[in-house]
Amino acid sequence: MKIAIVGSGQLARMMALSGWTMGLEFSFLADAGDNTDCVNGLGTVVHYDSALTAEALYLALGSPDRITVEKEAVNTQLLRELQAFCPVYPDPDMIDVCRHRANEKRWLQAQGAPTAHFYLTNTRADIESALEQAQARLPKDDNKPTIILKSCAGGYDGYSQWRLKSSLEVAALDDSVCVQECVAEERVDFSVEVSVIAARNVQGEIEIYPVAENEHRNGILLTTLVPAQQVSSEQRDQAIAIMRNLLAASNYVGVLTMECFVTEQGIVVNELAPRVHNSGHWSMNAGVVSQFENHIRAVCGLPLGRAQLAQGAAGMVNLLGIDAQPEQTLTTNTQLHRYNKSLKAGRKMGHLNLQADTPEQVQAQMDDWVAKLYA
Ligand code: ATP
Ligand code: MG
Ligand code: MG
Repeated sequence: MKIAIVGSGQLARMMALSGWTMGLEFSFLADAGDNTDCVNGLGTVVHYDSALTAEALYLALGSPDRITVEKEAVNTQLLRELQAFCPVYPDPDMIDVCRHRANEKRWLQAQGAPTAHFYLTNTRADIESALEQAQARLPKDDNKPTIILKSCAGGYDGYSQWRLKSSLEVAALDDSVCVQECVAEERVDFSVEVSVIAARNVQGEIEIYPVAENEHRNGILLTTLVPAQQVSSEQRDQAIAIMRNLLAASNYVGVLTMECFVTEQGIVVNELAPRVHNSGHWSMNAGVVSQFENHIRAVCGLPLGRAQLAQGAAGMVNLLGIDAQPEQTLTTNTQLHRYNKSLKAGRKMGHLNLQADTPEQVQAQMDDWVAKLYA
């Protein structure tokens, strides 16, 4: 079986590595000019060229049996054209939902999933009005933003977001920001952030990974702990029920990730990723079957593997702008994953997975690693 992945970053790399062990073959469709170091040696790389027809691209990709994606910022029109040649999972319509924040929020609300209250903006006056309405609805907190303005398309890792609490700040925004299509989200006062990662295969089988607890630094994921500790069993059940509902409503095929805020009123869904996710990297070493393998199995119509923890508890520490070496990081209960990227400040260079008997032990070890690596 041959699989083409749209994208050439670390998620494509790890999907291909997991499929290689099963004897699958891969090719990659990179954007023109994209760096493809992550997938070096793992299969043919084709750079997108608008002069090529979908058929020519399909052939250049080695006539794959399946096409999937490692990111939501993809050309979904092209994916629809490629559907003439082989199945494309997840469905391009669902990718369209996830890649546009306003569509995503509307779709979530239509499925009954709780989201932050939001306002659509594309002028400075819209943003001012969103701020005023949010100020009237939210408890005042001078240290926290009232609205988080997010561009509808293209943002990730906290980019293309502006935290605003006063009309002075709105006045200071660049014109170029104000005219973008944005959602202005009201601040959600949450105790912790969690994610739910699930796989659904072509036959409709579902596997859901344990709820993961995520800590961010400067808008980028820093650590993940599994199973999440700072959630009640009701909150956990609610998150999983929302996920099941979303999978069923969309007839989803592949891995779907849901990022959530945990609040006193329950779970609030922040965003979806129609793909494998950084908060699921722990599963490479501590899952019975990893998110990457389950994604590949799902899109190939193969039986899914258990999404359970193979042992007590697991964690992941992102290596942001750190080119960690095996000598520095390997212990009896850690594994190092590097993405073959050149070093750049803040860049996701790799991650460290670790396991222990209890979540408390994993948390303590993650804290030690963060202190040591980011000293
Ligand atoms: P990702 O890399 O996960 O795709 P992103 O750029 O799409 O990130 P979000 O996940 O929407 O951005 O936001 C980044 C972080 O900002 C969140 O993880 C959360 O910590 C904070 N945040 C976002 N929206 C809100 C909100 N409405 N209220 C409070 N905090 C928020
Ligand atoms: Mg996002
Ligand atoms: Mg996010």
